Amino acid sequence: MLTTAPRGTKDIMPTDVTAWRYLEETMRKICAQYGYKEIRTPVFEHTELFLRGIGETTDVVEKEMYTFTDRGERSITLRPENTASAVRAYIEHKLYADPAPTKLFYMGPMFRYDRPQAGRYRQFHQFGIEALGVPGPNIDAEIILLAVQILQSLGLKDLKLKINSVGCPKCRPEHRVKLQEFFKPHFDELCKDCQSRYDRNPLRLLDCKNPHCHELGEGAPSLEECLCDECKAHFAGLKELLTAAGVDYEVDHNLVRGLDYYTKTAFEIQYAPLGAQSAVCGGGRYDGLIKEVGGPETPGIGFAMGMERVLLALESQNLLPDFTDAMDVFVVCPNQEHFAKAFKAAIDLRRNGLKVDYDFQGRSMKAQMKAANRVKAHYVLIFGDDEVARNQVVLRNMANSEQKEIAISDITTILQTEVHEG
Ligand code: ATP
Ligand code: MG
Repeated sequence: MLTTAPRGTKDIMPTDVTAWRYLEETMRKICAQYGYKEIRTPVFEHTELFLRGIGETTDVVEKEMYTFTDRGERSITLRPENTASAVRAYIEHKLYADPAPTKLFYMGPMFRYDRPQAGRYRQFHQFGIEALGVPGPNIDAEIILLAVQILQSLGLKDLKLKINSVGCPKCRPEHRVKLQEFFKPHFDELCKDCQSRYDRNPLRLLDCKNPHCHELGEGAPSLEECLCDECKAHFAGLKELLTAAGVDYEVDHNLVRGLDYYTKTAFEIQYAPLGAQSAVCGGGRYDGLIKEVGGPETPGIGFAMGMERVLLALESQNLLPDFTDAMDVFVVCPNQEHFAKAFKAAIDLRRNGLKVDYDFQGRSMKAQMKAANRVKAHYVLIFGDDEVARNQVVLRNMANSEQKEIAISDITTILQTEVHEG
């Protein structure tokens, strides 16, 4: 037990970190293009925030939170998602006083007591966007385009964008009644969770992962027929903008997000080969959330993208570039009497911005040359006895095996030029 990480968590090893950084940098670059600014909130919050902000009838709150009492007798929860925290920060720092929209992005670890399997972990990472303060469909289209652009610029294919409207507190009640009528004859066949959702949040019956409940939900009354004029116009506006931007989408009337505070637009980006973990990105509008959490009535929309799932998709499509982390220079010095000189050369090169490594253990020439190959050094500096006696060293270009002698005092100047031109 001591030597294995807790179930559902994993180490991101140095060989994997390069792929993570590539993904993070792509996300940051596109956020900058769209004018979204990074926010970093605490990884834990008062439990109450998630009860309010996510909703007590959701799987996340009912079954998945890491909640504990701290030494000061407060109930604390490791964040299962970042929207509630971002909204809390928006209210706490009065960002609503700034001109709308407030455009935020985040990335970092989230915690859910989920059933671990490929693409589903207990500590996982989300990248996400929140755009607060504007009600119209153009911001909905913008954030969907941002998500799509990230995935496309990574080269991913075979992704499906699904959109829906889940209505608003004005039109949802009518649909709620229709849904209850529809499921009523099959109440006994529903899973325990759905039976308890039946009264509290019947919309969530459509979101159940149990295959039988899923079957029973086929042909359920569509929200579309119940949408009020405002929600209809909003949805039409979104579709028009997506079409104008040349983005393919599919309307899926059974797409409901698992969280209570969603209104109007809901969307998901799926990558089918990930099976039960096919949702790569999910989001939607949450016009009721900010008030629910104690702020002024403010519209908002956001999404969260599962970073592990994006990486799995990239891997399966062979889209991870070859991240060779080659060193510029390896300093070889078999005779420990010269080590101080070799060390000084290495440090000077590093101070001048080059990537430099050397042998720490005074091993043989052959072993040190092997080490230079292992770190894929472009150049090797050899501090041999004869050369050092003449204040010289051998500089070897590993690409073409050319060697020349250079003065120790010229090492930095020469290598800087070589590395930058080579
Ligand atoms: P799922 O239906 O797969 O459980 P969800 O509806 O719980 O997803 P959201 O709360 O919408 O997911 O989170 C947004 C995204 O975060 C998901 O689309 C997914 O990519 C990712 N995600 C959610 N839970 C996990 C997890 N346990 N491990 C890895 N990624 C996750
Ligand atoms: Mg889930």
